[in-house]
Amino acid sequence: MEDSLCHDCGVVATPEHIVLRCKETEEIAKEKRKTLEGREITDVLRNPKDVTVLRELANKIAAYHRMKFLPGGGESRWCLKS
Ligand SMILES: [Zn+2]
Repeated sequence: MEDSLCHDCGVVATPEHIVLRCKETEEIAKEKRKTLEGREITDVLRNPKDVTVLRELANKIAAYHRMKFLPGGGESRWCLKS
């Protein structure tokens, strides 16, 4: 049980998946993902301008997920279900 699955996509929820591919955050990530679309992550990390975009995207998504964990902060699909 070390890999957690993304509830929305049914794949392993790697950081890369969550930031770049998860459809749950499609709406908030769409614009920045378009900038990074089709790029290798290693290539993105070599380009300071792309790293900035990636960081902003990650922050945005992290804020979204943090909000969901707060009491009353939206749905709780990411909380562990037994
Ligand atoms: Zn997903």
